[in-house]
Amino acid sequence: MTPLHFSILVAMSKNRVIGRDNRLPWHLPADLKHFKFLTMGQTIVMGRKTYESIGRPLPGRANVIITRQTGYEVPGAIVVNSVDDALQVCEETSVGNAENFIIGGENLYRQALKFCQRMYVTEILRDYEGNVFFPEFDRSEWEEKQRDKHVSEKDDNLEYHFVIYDRKV
Ligand code: NDP
Repeated sequence: MTPLHFSILVAMSKNRVIGRDNRLPWHLPADLKHFKFLTMGQTIVMGRKTYESIGRPLPGRANVIITRQTGYEVPGAIVVNSVDDALQVCEETSVGNAENFIIGGENLYRQALKFCQRMYVTEILRDYEGNVFFPEFDRSEWEEKQRDKHVSEKDDNLEYHFVIYDRKV
């Protein structure tokens, strides 16, 4: 059987901010499109707070929500009580080479970094204020595979890069 693949998917600012008061600190429609393109048809795994900031299960994807609360139910999503249970669900919902995306937030990224083989990072080349951050990671353990550079003219020439990092074998 093909081993399961887990990938982190995140957008972060130059100062590592990923969120502010339970929402994204920027408005970057191109990043939301990128997110949709990558995750459609796949499994997405998220912490309860990230789920609540999105506000609904995302269509066309298996949505897995992690919480320690018992009795937390979301129609259209699979709710689990541990990271191990989330991994088990991914095993059951994945077909063939499907990719499983860890989509946040900080709390979940911290726990998932050790078992993810790939990171899709939108690097937003500006500082933002925020209260949640992407964890520091050891760059020497990751190889930059791809970097697509973009500029959003609508947003005061905001520069952002779609970057793929693969864990070195
Ligand atoms: P998370 O989304 O990581 O959710 C944390 C919650 O997940 C915990 O409170 C707990 O839920 C549950 N949880 C986490 N680990 C476990 C575990 N091992 N077992 C059981 N339950 C667990 O919260 P954060 O506050 O860290 O991140 C949310 C922020 O991140 C928001 O601002 C959001 O906008 C931002 N974000 C940004 C992204 C980006 O790419 N820029 C992507 C995703 C989110 P409970 O309390 O119910 O027990």
